[in-house]
Amino acid sequence: MPPAASRVGVFPDPYHVWLSEIMLQQTTVTAVIPYYSRFLTLWPDLLKLAAADDDRVMAAWAGLGYYARARNLLACARSVRDQYGGVFPRSNHELRALPGIGPYTAAAIGAIAFGQPETVVDGNVERVMARLYDVETPLPAAKKVLTDLAGALTPQSRAGDYAQAVMDLGSTVCTPRNPNCGHCPWRVHCAGFAQGTQNELPHRESQKQRPHRHGFAYVARRGDGALLLETRPKNGLLGGMLGWPGSSWDDSPEFNPPFSADWMARPGSVRHIFTHFSVEIAVYTATVPQDFKTQTGAFTKEQDFDITALPSLMRKIHAHATAR
Ligand code: SF4
Repeated sequence: MPPAASRVGVFPDPYHVWLSEIMLQQTTVTAVIPYYSRFLTLWPDLLKLAAADDDRVMAAWAGLGYYARARNLLACARSVRDQYGGVFPRSNHELRALPGIGPYTAAAIGAIAFGQPETVVDGNVERVMARLYDVETPLPAAKKVLTDLAGALTPQSRAGDYAQAVMDLGSTVCTPRNPNCGHCPWRVHCAGFAQGTQNELPHRESQKQRPHRHGFAYVARRGDGALLLETRPKNGLLGGMLGWPGSSWDDSPEFNPPFSADWMARPGSVRHIFTHFSVEIAVYTATVPQDFKTQTGAFTKEQDFDITALPSLMRKIHAHATAR
């Protein structure tokens, strides 16, 4: 749900709806709220965000994860500025052509910001529809039928209020476990409740096991305490974010530090879970003289970098490398 509140007949700012919907992709409301507030303080409107420095935006996003969203956020703001004079287009196909805006986000902007009768379907809505109509087909095969059922219920007026109400119902009453059917306004119409299947739905096809990968991270400290950081390549995981030099993450990564030094393995390892794989990082540290020079990254004193500007995995590596 977007943090932007709306009154009847008053539509929230499309910039607020878009920003909140992008942040809420794969992320909880509780985690998003401080980031959403900070972004609106730093960049109160779309044109200010479009003119923002890339590194500042990536640093403000750090910790929220799924960093492609931050890169697409900037690309989208600049597209709206350059193609539409800074005003979000209203049509679904124009919204979907913008970077980072998929079917769900386009429908959410159309319904919530523009009051258009668009069908907004997220995981909450899928669950409510599967139970309301007692749909036995497992996800993801059931997506189309659940979307069609949600579409048939979408009203022509106040579609945004309706969409937010169904998503709220899913997140607060028709919850994944132990739905509170006794307090549900749809109970008398609910086929799942009538059949007693509400706790089993929606069914899901069994998921494949997440692969486990390995990697190395190299944390170098100069004589004056400065640490070696580098900006990761723009494309790929954590692209454009600050981090420690390291190997690829795969089955058998190569141990290949950025320069020769007395690299020491830290005991233990750092574990992290991404959406499609988990990774275990062996951390190596080295101390080099104060006048040491390298082609990789830049030495930065700890007081000159904000640890919160690093992605979660890089923060974990820092904590592991500096633990006593
Ligand atoms: Fe969900 Fe129960 Fe309401 Fe049906 S009655 S929609 S299962 S909370």
